[in-house]
Amino acid sequence: MKPDAVRAAVSHEAIDGVITEMLTRGRGPDGLPPQITCGRGCAACCSEPVYVERQEVLLLARRLLDLPEATRQRVLARTRAWVAKFRASPLLTEKLPHVLAYRALRMPCPLLENQECLLYQDRPNACRMHMAIGPREKCEDDAQRLDQLFVSRHDLMIGGIYKLIEGAQPGETVELVMEHLGLLLAEALLGERVESGACEMLRIQIAPEEPEGAPAPEGTPEAPEDAPEEAA
Ligand code: SF4
Repeated sequence: MKPDAVRAAVSHEAIDGVITEMLTRGRGPDGLPPQITCGRGCAACCSEPVYVERQEVLLLARRLLDLPEATRQRVLARTRAWVAKFRASPLLTEKLPHVLAYRALRMPCPLLENQECLLYQDRPNACRMHMAIGPREKCEDDAQRLDQLFVSRHDLMIGGIYKLIEGAQPGETVELVMEHLGLLLAEALLGERVESGACEMLRIQIAPEEPEGAPAPEGTPEAPEDAPEEAA
């Protein structure tokens, strides 16, 4: 596996560790573990804009090679269809498409098949961290979507995503440019670079190193610039 893809896998392990800790110990203001309502068969957030690191897509492209040829061909066909639809949409030049405008285009992630992620074990951090804590219908129904509540992904990011950044140190503030998953899949799988403004800038303060056995921090990193209403 290429070194960048290895780094993505390491970051995923780190994020999973932070999520597990949060779900068992609780990190919110009330100190209670959040009750996640996401579950099998709901893939509403896979039809929303997803912003990822490039190396995460290298990992997906590598894992795709392990799938049967027929499955790979279906993913390629869906990626082509996704690109054609996105190119023709008014959202092409928008930096951060509004979640409802994007959902209205009905352009699910090309990796989604039968309402399930084909590469769930290697899904990007944005997908791992997108966890609803309100009723599932609020994700599935466009009219209720903006009322849904989610676990703070920034609490999660400070716990793990810095491992993607070369040389980043605990306590440091770093900036990440995240790109649209669909666009990066088109580049990695089709060799097609689509010019689009769709990217997200995140400014994250990396949590200071905790001494062994210390309680979980409740740090609130800086909000991302130009954050979307609720991007996955
Ligand atoms: S990578 Fe998987 S979980 Fe993430 S948006 Fe695509 S299908 Fe959904």
